[in-house]
Amino acid sequence: RFVVLEGVEGAGKTTQVRLLSAWLRELGIDHLTAREPGGTEVGEAIREVLLARRDAEMAAETELLLMLAARATFVREVVEPALAAGRVVLADRFDFSTFAYQGYGRGLDLDEVRRLNTFATGGLRPDLTIVLDLPVDEGAARQAREGAEPDRIEGAGRDFLERVADGYRALAAGEGRARTIDARGEAEAVHRRLRALLGSTFP
Ligand code: C5P
Ligand code: MG
Repeated sequence: RFVVLEGVEGAGKTTQVRLLSAWLRELGIDHLTAREPGGTEVGEAIREVLLARRDAEMAAETELLLMLAARATFVREVVEPALAAGRVVLADRFDFSTFAYQGYGRGLDLDEVRRLNTFATGGLRPDLTIVLDLPVDEGAARQAREGAEPDRIEGAGRDFLERVADGYRALAAGEGRARTIDARGEAEAVHRRLRALLGSTFP
């Protein structure tokens, strides 16, 4: 089974992946966690190009193709072998990020983005995508509290992030294998909501 957590900056994806992983470990469920872009040597190198150079100019098309280049290797080196071995894969971001950021956010044609994504993944889709829904302002405030520096993409501005958040809502509404969780409040409270959801849709 392939489960993905999605959402805007500061929504708590990384924290919730960690808490879910601890829970699965208690249950004795063999699993692997990974983040995107990244998760492989090539993926981490692409992540560096995409995010670390904060003043870099980059065409939206370049950004899209780099994300998908990282995904292609992630799918083949990490996700498929794990699924084939019967393990659960828990990912911090996957295709919804691309639709939300490069489609809704950057304004690239969504059908084209979907087509290119399908090429990159060979058609692999998550069994379940959970969108952690949080107002953009709250996410930004959380990040500021944690002292996290915005990366190149997070620094793209408020309007951009609002389009991304709206995009996530539209995507979650239009996709049968997606669910939305209220990501406000304490991490433990959000974790309990996630457990309840996973318990009912994903035995
Ligand atoms: O915070 P995180 O580790 O998830 O950072 C990944 C960064 O990559 C975020 O700034 C996110 O906005 C960006 N991203 C993107 N398009 C994707 C995946 C990630 O713009 N498809
Ligand atoms: Mg981030």
